[in-house]
Amino acid sequence: MPQPKYKTRRSHTRSRKAATFYARAERVSLGRCPRCHALKPSHYACPSCGYYAGEQVYVVKAESKAEEES
Ligand SMILES: [Zn+2]
Repeated sequence: MPQPKYKTRRSHTRSRKAATFYARAERVSLGRCPRCHALKPSHYACPSCGYYAGEQVYVVKAESKAEEES
């Protein structure tokens, strides 16, 4: 089996990984909430209605505050 001629230097490997570090962190896949159809990051609870997989995970604070003020 063919082998690479030289071992990849540690500085070479680390600089390559550092170049894509922030790009990987910022890459978020957005999907639509099946309940309220708002844009939300996939595999996260919906920030506008607080639902995930058909169940309410948390109560959205903005809604409760609006109810208190009115
Ligand atoms: Zn939602």
